[in-house]
Amino acid sequence: MAGNWKMNLNHLEANLLVQKIAASLNEQQLTDVEVVVLPSFTNLRTVQTLVDGDKLLIGYGAQDLSPHAKGAYTGEISGLMLAKLGCQYVVVGHSERRQYHHEDDALVNSKVKAALTYELAPILCIGEGLEVREAGEHVPHVIAQLDAALDGLTAAQVERVVVAYEPVWAIGTGKTATPEDAQEVCGAIRARLGEAFGATTAERTRILYGGSVKATSVASLMAQQDVDGALVGGASIDAEEWVQICRFP
Ligand code: PEP
Repeated sequence: MAGNWKMNLNHLEANLLVQKIAASLNEQQLTDVEVVVLPSFTNLRTVQTLVDGDKLLIGYGAQDLSPHAKGAYTGEISGLMLAKLGCQYVVVGHSERRQYHHEDDALVNSKVKAALTYELAPILCIGEGLEVREAGEHVPHVIAQLDAALDGLTAAQVERVVVAYEPVWAIGTGKTATPEDAQEVCGAIRARLGEAFGATTAERTRILYGGSVKATSVASLMAQQDVDGALVGGASIDAEEWVQICRFP
């Protein structure tokens, strides 16, 4: 279960939220679900200090990275820097970055490779907009994004990637895909991974659904065969709602 905090919270608020989440996870003895938070860059050090200092059972990662290792790229943050901060994950190709920062498939592919270089597991976001969905082209669209993002990777590398199917029309809109919609695309993603990288890799690669997931909708999504977890935005900065989502069954 991965919580994308987006551009919310200062470091004091991040501190408080992590403590609340940790206390609640502990209270509920939720140890069989991997819980990951994805704060803004400026909050990573705070989260690291809490997680390391208190041995919290929470993973963390960043929301983006540069495709470059270092150098004259003002404003960018490299995978090397994130790894040094103890990040295990990094979001790549979120639709908000594709939309507002014009990230294309080639850049997403180079970011996936940069993440893997520094032992960060990329959470690769793919998903169709409303027009594509209404035209009935969502499956080929998402598979083309997947192929482009994983171009040049070995099967062993692909197993480290977490694929998040996030229909753009469902992100931050309150419109969740139906469990059947989520399964249709997540199943197609798994089938494509099987064709391209073999059945074992397809089985081992984790596939998440994301798009307005709430405590009330998570169980039916998680009941789908090819949905292994959720990428959650808005609801992940409310400690109570987030922990309810994490204990979905
Ligand atoms: C997201 O930011 O990846 C996301 C799924 O957001 P929300 O849950 O708010 O739709």
